[in-house]
Amino acid sequence: MIIEDKLRQTRFSVDEVPHIRVNSEVCQDCADKPCLYVCPVQNYTLKDGEVTFIWHSCVECGACRIACLKGAIDWSYPRGGFGVCLRYG
Ligand code: SF4
Ligand code: SF4
Repeated sequence: MIIEDKLRQTRFSVDEVPHIRVNSEVCQDCADKPCLYVCPVQNYTLKDGEVTFIWHSCVECGACRIACLKGAIDWSYPRGGFGVCLRYG
């Protein structure tokens, strides 16, 4: 099963309180912006030269937290009862 098939098996209970916050001021000095490439659901995008972030489809993999070497990402799991439900592994 390829990753796109696995992602189609996910369900979300979206918490409107973001469980990940990005300090966009730090992003302005980040040349490579690895967060744009590691997120499996493309939650990080570049718009008019600035990184924008949404959390609604986050699969809680933690890749962005590891990839951001500038400490711009404040990462936590969603509150209890919210977040992703992964099916079939
Ligand atoms: S890797 Fe971190 S600092 Fe760089 S653009 Fe992404 S969130 Fe911002
Ligand atoms: S934890 Fe994973 S899925 Fe969620 S925003 Fe970060 S890289 Fe994307």
